Amino acid sequence: MSEAGMIGSVAVLGAGTMGVGIAQVCALARKNVVLFDINAAALERGLVTMRRQLDEGVQRGKLTIETTNSAFAVVKPTIDLDSCAGCDLIIEVAPEKLELKRELFAALDALAPSHTIFASNTSSLSITSLAGATKRGDRFCGVHFFNPAHILPLVELVRTEDTSDETMRVVSAFAVSIKKSSVICKDTPAFIVNRVARPFYGEALRLLGEGAADAATIDDLMVSLGFKMGPFKLIDLVGCDVNLAVTQSVYGAFFQDPKYRPHPIQQKMVESGRLGRKTGRGFYLY
Ligand code: NAD
Repeated sequence: MSEAGMIGSVAVLGAGTMGVGIAQVCALARKNVVLFDINAAALERGLVTMRRQLDEGVQRGKLTIETTNSAFAVVKPTIDLDSCAGCDLIIEVAPEKLELKRELFAALDALAPSHTIFASNTSSLSITSLAGATKRGDRFCGVHFFNPAHILPLVELVRTEDTSDETMRVVSAFAVSIKKSSVICKDTPAFIVNRVARPFYGEALRLLGEGAADAATIDDLMVSLGFKMGPFKLIDLVGCDVNLAVTQSVYGAFFQDPKYRPHPIQQKMVESGRLGRKTGRGFYLY
């Protein structure tokens, strides 16, 4: 980290849908990026996706070939967690499972120097609970990007009771440096955007379950009203597995308040491997 507290290097843990976009955004902002995944094949797929996304940026006239080549070159892929420890900021982007994330943070806490800031991209899990797996509650926060992370401009910066003012100052400056707008949120279940989105998904799934209309009709109606995307196309983009995990976590966080109850259709989608765009099949075929 520079003397002014600017983040110069970022480790991104998880090379899936979100991790790749986040690593790409950081690399384009000239950070040194370490991209970690426990699965070498997933890491390889993630790099292919990043290259494709960068090339699409060139085709759309948003990026130059030189910029994309130098951004791609600063991303260091690794399956060795030790290689992440030297970065100024570590952003965890692993699956939405509390124990998995807590174990990852506990392992990193033993490896990373005390000044390193830890952040999670979780959509719904308690940042306080994740921070509790470490001894650095003051240097721990949520940095929640939206999908697709390389395109959507917002990040939610989630502050717990223990996060220090200095950590918030550094991550706010980091958001500016990667050209994102940020909003500071309290550590409430699903923060702001995903909380507001729960009934968008939930009621659409109930309508589908009741046979009121099919997925495409519901999506078309919402788009005709001005929404950029309907709920089922959005679930396919997010990933049906991620969408279910987030719904389950919010339902649990509100002590099984029926308002947030998951729908059996979500469960069936996951059980049948129809995870959305990432598996080529969800509510739609890709
Ligand atoms: P994903 O399933 O696409 O990718 C997860 C990646 O993590 C995989 O490559 C997997 O191999 C890897 N992984 C598994 N265990 C790991 C470990 N112990 N350490 C490091 N990597 C590990 O998931 P995603 O959609 O990228 O979601 C990741 C996180 O981002 C979740 O917390 C999710 O809630 C959040 N999020 C997702 C979206 C979305 O729209 N998909 C949006 C915002 C936030």
